[in-house]
Order: sequence, then C-alpha cells, then structure tokens
Amino acid sequence: MKKVIIIGGGAAGMMCACHAAKNGARVELFEKNEKLGKKIFITGKGRGNLTNASDIDVVFNSICSNPKFMYSSLYSFTNDDALKFFNDIGLGTKVERGNRVFPKSDHAYEITDVLTREMKRLQVKIRLYTKVESLIIVKDACEGVVTADGERHMADAVVVATGGFSYQSTGSTGDGYKFAESAGMNVTDISPSLVPFNCKEKFVTEMQGLSLKNTGLELKHGKKVLYSDFGEMLFTHFGVSGPMILSASARVARKFFGKELRLVLDLKPALSEEQLDARIIREFEENNKKEFKNSLSKMFPSKMIPVIIERSGIDANKRCNVISHEERKRLVELIKNFDMTVTGLRDYNEAIVTKGGVSVKDINPATMESKTCKNLYFAGETLDIDCLTGGFNLQVAWSTGVAAARAITEE
Ligand SMILES: Cc1cc2nc3c(=O)[nH]c(=O)nc-3n(C[C@H](O)[C@H](O)[C@H](O)COP(=O)(O)OP(=O)(O)OC[C@H]3O[C@@H](n4cnc5c(N)ncnc54)[C@H](O)[C@@H]3O)c2cc1C
Repeated sequence: MKKVIIIGGGAAGMMCACHAAKNGARVELFEKNEKLGKKIFITGKGRGNLTNASDIDVVFNSICSNPKFMYSSLYSFTNDDALKFFNDIGLGTKVERGNRVFPKSDHAYEITDVLTREMKRLQVKIRLYTKVESLIIVKDACEGVVTADGERHMADAVVVATGGFSYQSTGSTGDGYKFAESAGMNVTDISPSLVPFNCKEKFVTEMQGLSLKNTGLELKHGKKVLYSDFGEMLFTHFGVSGPMILSASARVARKFFGKELRLVLDLKPALSEEQLDARIIREFEENNKKEFKNSLSKMFPSKMIPVIIERSGIDANKRCNVISHEERKRLVELIKNFDMTVTGLRDYNEAIVTKGGVSVKDINPATMESKTCKNLYFAGETLDIDCLTGGFNLQVAWSTGVAAARAITEE
C-alpha cells in the first residue's frame, strides 16, 4: 500500500486526499492551520462558488494562464465530475447566474465539512497545526517531508497543495514555491490577480460606494486598448473594483501594471454620441429654467453628479437654457469617455488569486508530477494557473488534485 503525504488542507489537498485514499493509498494530510479549508470558508463571499456548470469550452476560456496545461486534468475530472462528486458525498448544490455553482445551504464551510467527512470515512490521517518546513529529496526523488518540529516523515509520494500567496491569513504563504525551487524547479514571477486598481484622481474616491451597471470600459496604455468589457464596477476609497475590474486585472499582462494606464468608461453605452446629445437636449428643455446642477438627476446617480459637473467645466449655476452647444459637446465627450488614471494593482491581501507560481513547464500535465524530481506532485493554486471568477479557480484545484491522486495510485 502506497503512503502519500499531502502538504496543505485546502481545496486541492483535500480533494487529492479523498481520491488517493479511495484508490487504496495510505494518506496523511499536513495542514499548518488549526483547521482545514480556511480559504474555502471565504470563497464566494462565504457562499462557496465551488465550480461552474457551463460547457467545458467556457471553463477553458476562463483560465487566464496556461489553459493548455489543464487539458488532461480537466478533461479527466471535469466540472460535471466535480459536481457529481460533491453531490455523491452529500453536498446539495444549486446553479446561479453565470452558471456559478453554490452549496444549496449558501454556506461555503459545507464544502470543507463534506470533504472532511469523506476523508475521515476513507481513514485519511489529518494532522492539523503541522507545518511542513522542507522536502526530503534524495537523488532527484522526493522521499518525504520535514515538519517544523524537525520530525522526518517518509512517503512514497508527496503532493504540494499549499496554495498561492494571497489572503495569507488563510495559510497560503507561498511555501510551495520554496519547495519547488528546492526540487530544482522554476517558479515564475508572481503578482496579485482578480484584484482592484488604485487610481490617481481624487474625484474617483469621492464616488466611493457607488456601483455602476451596464457600463462600457476600456483599459488603455497610450492608444493601445489592453482590455474592454461591459458590465458592473464599483468606486472605492482607493480606486475601482467590481467584476469588470477584477477581470481586467486577470487578463492584462503584468508588464503594463508598472505604468500609468487610462481607464475609460462609457457611462451611456446604449446611446451613440448623437443620441446622447439629443437626450441631453431633451433633459435641458424639460429643465430649462433650472440650473445645470439640478438637471442631471435622471441621468446620473447622485454621487456622480458633482463630479460630472466639475469635470464638464460647465458652471453649476448656469441655467440649462443658456448652456452652449460647445458646452454640451464637452458634456457628451465626458460621458462617453469618462477617464481616470490607474496607478497599479492593490496587493495580495485583496487579491482573490495569485498569478504565476510553480512553472507548468516543469510538471507533467497528465500526472502533476515534477519533471525534475520523482514522486513529487503539485496541485492547486501553487501552480502557474489562474482563472477568472465564477468557480473556475476551485475547479482547477479539484481537477489537479484528482490528477495527482490518480497518477500516484494508478501507477
Ligand atoms: C476572498 C476569496 C474568494 C474566493 N472565491 C472563490 C470562489 O467563489 N470560487 C473559486 O473558484 N475560487 C475562489 N477563490 C479562489 C480559491 O479559493 C483558491 O484558488 C483555492 O482555494 C486554491 O486552493 P488550494 O488548495 O490550491 O490552496 P488553498 O485553499 O490556499 O490551501 C492551501 C493550504 O495549504 C496550507 N499550507 C500552506 N503552506 C503549508 C505548509 N508549509 N505546511 C502545511 N500546510 C500548509 C494552508 O494553510 C492552506 O490551508 C477565492 C479566493 C479568495 C481569497
């Protein structure tokens, strides 16, 4: 009977433990925290968006880094397989907007609960408060791990499932990168992803708390459009956040975030400039005796009105019936190109995932085994794989965890 040590009791580690134990291995799971699944607990705003029920093509398109590496493991353990697995071990699920799958109970901790129950049923030995300090590597093969108390634990296979580098209070402090390097593997540059942006202008923070829907967005470097989208976003005390911003942070190449970028919003994307001008004329005619500052409430949320007035350069107290054609043109231009300066990404404490990690070039995609060190496997976010929001990051943890378990136990 093979003995398997799994480092990390997060999504990938627990999934790997269940499958390795089910296939007959003797499994020990080492988790440095006082409990399992601390990060799972906060996923999906505490509701646990555990996978996505879209077609597999959509799943692949939602993987931002190294989707090809995922072919083998994701086709072998798909989003449908994950759903079936969780349903079979007692987790009721439901599908919401965007095919996001959640526990029926709306409690993310239920995901950890069912996995823990399954691991116990399969006699996985769970060691909490147990930090792995280093790997035991002899002649390019991993033979076990050394824990923080200096004890050596030998195994036939070791799986590193230590997560990325974001939300470090959950336990993911990048230890897997150190383990990979000690095994002669490469680790790519890492950076926060699915993360808000800092902005330069004061008017951005003046609108904090305001969320916009149905807004057009372009993120630009000079004239080059790096990312465009349509949807929801949010102004904050430091800049901008919300679904479109998080996706932009995941999609745009890192090299651009060292530079000042322009975020350009189209506040009325359903209207052409001519249609918008006609709408403003109508608005001004209806309010012709009112001052400019009192004429905008039908067109903009109240938090935005002072900013629009200030940026339009039109005197706030000017009567609508004397606003000039030129001034109106400026207003249209502002509404269609409401721009601000992005100075960079927020840090790892606010990043849903880490971009970069253990280089997939050094890992066999079918087995998750290191190419430089035998019997050493990697799974989950520690890998150089990151996805959009929607349940895809957890799906990567499930699929890579299962791939490692099967490879170890089916050889
Ligand atoms: C706020 C937030 C919300 C999210 N929401 C979603 C969502 O709804 N859907 C989705 O798909 N994804 C979501 N994600 C991303 C998703 O949670 C992660 O991608 C996923 O949990 C990664 O799983 P993992 O097992 O690789 O790593 P982790 O879940 O980070 O687990 C790693 C574990 O390893 C342990 N560990 C680390 N080093 C050691 C060591 N040396 N010794 C022993 N143990 C160690 C850690 O304590 C930790 O328990 C969210 C992330 C955040 C931060």
